[in-house]
Amino acid sequence: MNIYRSNTGSLQPKELEAVYEISRRVAEAEDTESALDEIVRIIRPVFIFDNVVLYICSQDNETLEPSFARAIGRGRFHEADMAWGEATAKLTYRDHRVVTQTEKLKIAEVDRTNLRYSLGLPVHLRDQTFGALVFIRFGGPVYLPGHINLAEFVAGHVAQLLYRHQLVERIAELEARRRLDMLQDDFISTISHELLTPLGFIKGYTTTLLREEISWDEDMRHEFLTIVNEEADRLRELIDNLLDSSRLQAGTLRMNYQTIRLDAMLKDISLRARSRNENFAINLVLKTSSVPVQADPTRLAQVFDNILNNAIKYAPGSPVTITLDRKDRLAIVAISDKGSGIAPQHLEKLFQRFYRVPESSTVTRGTGLGLYICRKIIQTHNGEITAESVLGEGTTFYIKLPLVENP
Ligand code: ADP
Repeated sequence: MNIYRSNTGSLQPKELEAVYEISRRVAEAEDTESALDEIVRIIRPVFIFDNVVLYICSQDNETLEPSFARAIGRGRFHEADMAWGEATAKLTYRDHRVVTQTEKLKIAEVDRTNLRYSLGLPVHLRDQTFGALVFIRFGGPVYLPGHINLAEFVAGHVAQLLYRHQLVERIAELEARRRLDMLQDDFISTISHELLTPLGFIKGYTTTLLREEISWDEDMRHEFLTIVNEEADRLRELIDNLLDSSRLQAGTLRMNYQTIRLDAMLKDISLRARSRNENFAINLVLKTSSVPVQADPTRLAQVFDNILNNAIKYAPGSPVTITLDRKDRLAIVAISDKGSGIAPQHLEKLFQRFYRVPESSTVTRGTGLGLYICRKIIQTHNGEITAESVLGEGTTFYIKLPLVENP
């Protein structure tokens, strides 16, 4: 494929060497700006110029904007003047051809920069035009056919560089879209599964109870209705979690802040957890008393409940210790279990939406929304939630909240 109209046969050995070096550099380029800098460095010894500006056309092909400019030699002192070469760039881009222009400024002061020779080269590859590359020489020499031929090679390589950059961006964009699609697919399949499970139980048990040919004794009816009741609760909890998580994500969940005593709240929560699960051994260690924080009590209790429920689910039979302490201006709550723990590669991901440790997700029901909601709630309270875990030894969740200075 012949990309350039130019002919390498007419290049001098040094120019040929420079062209090959440029093409090598373009092939290896990771970042367009530094590759352009390299190109400028490589051509300087074989091509005379004071300024070089790369103009790129906008997406709608309406405007040309300078996207890269370097001034060397005499032009160094005039670097700020990016408008130089603009007229040449426009003409080059409009006509898709090489343009040479000479501009003589009528200024009394004798300065070589008053006589400008511009060379505009279209930057295009196949049927795509990216813009124009403009070289400027102050005070000459004029561009001879050999110079133009070399400059066309350079413009061809710049086009390749831009083409590569465009491809890389396009690939990244497609990859991001694919990831989003996958996430949405995952979301739909997780949620449908989680919603269908309790719904299946409810439908199954109510259908069974409604069968007229069977008369159920009172105990049986009670047992079935208890299951229906529990599954309906679970459905409600799931829908609440989904709503919470999307409101937290959008930042529209309203918080009702008030000053509360964390020590009192933890006492209540552990009493409630104990009364709900007789076999749940829960210890509360208050290393400090009267710990005032600014919080929405319902939302904060939701965080502690979620972590305690997780301990019941994922560390069954293990005692749980809640410790309250204060350090500097922070209240610190640690909730530890002695369960099987979480492997390090999963620890930070626990707080991501829908993340579940693969091993536990096959044995315990859940959506992976709980800890995501916890982190969002704690962050809304200007706090921090983290997890530490040792496999085979247990897991500790830490919640840090700013203390109220003068309650
Ligand atoms: P869910 O319980 O619905 O899966 P969470 O966001 O509350 O969602 O928890 C995410 C995951 O973190 C759980 O699936 C589980 O694998 C893991 N996990 C949470 N707490 C514990 C714990 N105390 N011990 C072991 N693993 C835990």
